[in-house]
Amino acid sequence: METSVNSDRHASAPPAFLVAKNIHKSFDGVPVLKGVDLSIGGGETVCLLGPSGCGKTTLLRVVAGLVQPDAGQVWCEGQDVTHVPVHRRGFGLMFQDYALFPHMSVFDNIAFGLRMHRWPPPQIRQRVEELLTLVNLQRFSQSKVYELSGGQQQRVALARSLAPRPRLLMLDEPLGSLDRVLRDRLQDELRSLLGQLQQTALYVTHDQWEAFAIADRIVLMNEGRVEQVGTPTAIYLSPASRFVSRFLGFRNELSARLVALQPQPILESPLGRLYPASVPASCRVGDIVTVVIRPEAATFGPCADQPCFTLRLLDLSFRGAQTVWRLAAGDEGAILEFFLPPPARPPRKGDEICLCFDARGMIVFK
Ligand code: ATP
Repeated sequence: METSVNSDRHASAPPAFLVAKNIHKSFDGVPVLKGVDLSIGGGETVCLLGPSGCGKTTLLRVVAGLVQPDAGQVWCEGQDVTHVPVHRRGFGLMFQDYALFPHMSVFDNIAFGLRMHRWPPPQIRQRVEELLTLVNLQRFSQSKVYELSGGQQQRVALARSLAPRPRLLMLDEPLGSLDRVLRDRLQDELRSLLGQLQQTALYVTHDQWEAFAIADRIVLMNEGRVEQVGTPTAIYLSPASRFVSRFLGFRNELSARLVALQPQPILESPLGRLYPASVPASCRVGDIVTVVIRPEAATFGPCADQPCFTLRLLDLSFRGAQTVWRLAAGDEGAILEFFLPPPARPPRKGDEICLCFDARGMIVFK
């Protein structure tokens, strides 16, 4: 029987276009990158995800050539580029503040890099027009950047960074300054655009939902190290550690004892007996473990194949498509939150609610 839920830790990458190996970097004696490996396949979008200060931007800057690593190498298309200067790497960069020239026209902003690279004017015109069409800004070609909305400025910045056909596009929190609604829309646009162009991209964000929306693969970092690498689905379904689980926002943690492994794992928890689908392969009967119950893993009981638990309702919070039910569990008063359908009849605070948990919705950490 498969007993491990942590199978995609450091998942294998597609054939690598870019490889960074064992990157170390300290600032003023403080280590910021502690032996980081990274690989990006051709045409792939990889997101560096992690909490503020974990080293995402520093890693991006090492790849770009803006920061020299203390140790480790960066390879691109089979060539060691560790000591190749920024402007010779053929990479494009897009920052959170866009660094556009506000008093120049949209056309001139996009053309700027091409003029620096001494492209002939007819080719510049053709390329800028292609990009204006791509980002749907044709009619703003002669507008000044300061006349545009935040979302339009973001598209100009994207067009400008794509203009010289970079072999790798790097984006550092490119949607960071926009409001939530605009961010959601631009995430989808950006994803489809990168896919359409088959543009290889490295994307930095601290927002897990943004990473899920954009990435082919996520590299999740914590304090200068890689915690987990995997597709958005793999990371969401099988967080490799409690850190990843907490970073994804899973808060329903309970301490439990493993009382049986065969024929199926059984946990003794403050709620009662839980039956997770699997436990890490290293677990032994008698171990004290942490079980995380996903917020979407609960259904109203009774259920045919899972035991039912009685919890006390603390409050309900309406979030549009779903309702968050906050409930108190067991004698130790653990507080759990679940996404459940809105109630047909409004329950009252203190009501007893009977819930069952899907076996695959329970993640066990040793
Ligand atoms: P955020 O999401 O907040 O941008 P991050 O994960 O991108 O965070 P980094 O910007 O890489 O993190 O910074 C990691 C650590 O390195 C931070 O503590 C930061 O203060 C420090 N750091 C980064 N660049 C320098 C520098 N040039 N000099 C000194 N310290 C630096």
